Amino acid sequence: MKIHEYQAKELFRKYRIPVPEGGVAFSVEEARKVAAGLGGWPVVVKAQIHAGGRGKGGGVKLARSEEEVQQAAGGILGMTLVTHQTGPEGRLVRKLLVEQGLNIAKELYLSIVPDRATAKIVIMASEAGGMDIEEVAARSPEKIIKSFVNPLLGLQAFHCRQLAFGLNLPPAAAKNFMPMIQNLYRLFVEYDCSLVEINPLVLTTEEAVIALDAKITLDDNALFRHKDILELRDLDEENPLEVEASKYNLNYINLEGNVGNMVNGAGLAMATMDIIKHAGAEPANFLDVGGGASAEMVENGFRIILSDKNVKGILINIFGGILRCDTLARGVVEAATKTGIQVPVVVRMEGTNVEEGRRILAESGLNLITAADLKDAARKVAEIVK
Ligand code: ADP
Ligand code: MG
Repeated sequence: MKIHEYQAKELFRKYRIPVPEGGVAFSVEEARKVAAGLGGWPVVVKAQIHAGGRGKGGGVKLARSEEEVQQAAGGILGMTLVTHQTGPEGRLVRKLLVEQGLNIAKELYLSIVPDRATAKIVIMASEAGGMDIEEVAARSPEKIIKSFVNPLLGLQAFHCRQLAFGLNLPPAAAKNFMPMIQNLYRLFVEYDCSLVEINPLVLTTEEAVIALDAKITLDDNALFRHKDILELRDLDEENPLEVEASKYNLNYINLEGNVGNMVNGAGLAMATMDIIKHAGAEPANFLDVGGGASAEMVENGFRIILSDKNVKGILINIFGGILRCDTLARGVVEAATKTGIQVPVVVRMEGTNVEEGRRILAESGLNLITAADLKDAARKVAEIVK
């Protein structure tokens, strides 16, 4: 789960990680009030969306007076902000963060992520902050320092020194950086984060180190432990079909292509997406209805796939294990009848009660195309959407 910058900065405050003073605003008037309460100029007005690159896209504006705040807020609120992370369709801006403008001497980069290869937590830092870190990583990887933390032993003083020296921090700033990195690491672990990123972390002309941007992603599997975080979920920032799917505990991810696919089991779903691509088509989604899905879940999954306007053909690929083929068939027939389905559906089904499942589909009177095997299924559905 992602949260907004202003929410991430609240968590930073809780962990005593320095951030600029500021507050969230939902209207131009609120933005003016927040700015007036900061007691100094300039202030910065920032679009709050779940994507980075806002600065380049025109979603971050400096203001030196109340008029300028109103102008900036009015311009950003309601705009469709397009950045390299939003895709060409952009994101509608509904809220702003209005904060103190800082005197930036240098923009640095700092992040914490789990590293699967080493099974450690890696802290990355770079003097080349503020800009596209992916670009830095690709062109000059030597500019990124990585410090690997054994999760059992935790963060040690030498990690902090390695990072502070690597960032070439002046002594006064390095002194403040040490507790900051400790608190950031604690936040990362205590909140089960999958990413904490500060880009830029700024060194001010007063030699303070402050988190100017804040990005936090939390592990969905651990959210049950963090009720306070659940309240921060912003459904406006999520794909409506994915929100709908999450209500039914379906693992659904919306994708660009036009072949809708319904599969049981995440591994089989990945393999199905691969074979769809191999057949020359593009999947419209990832959908794992789960091993123990009920007819009702299958029906909901089917309905969600069908409400995606891009879908021109559907591939149902089920290996009947715990989810028996007859249960699946009933769910499909139910959903197809209720939705008055228009798009062709190719079914590949194997496993428990497959004969019964095939009989239900055959007798349903629906126009379903059966496939001999997975390869045949992918070929047929690719043919349909071409
Ligand atoms: P994004 O990463 O989405 O572009 P940032 O929060 O990193 O958004 O802001 C982009 C740039 O705007 C920063 O690199 C910094 O130069 C400037 N900026 C952002 N907030 C402030 C602030 N409070 N004071 C001064 N400059 C800021
Ligand atoms: Mg940034």
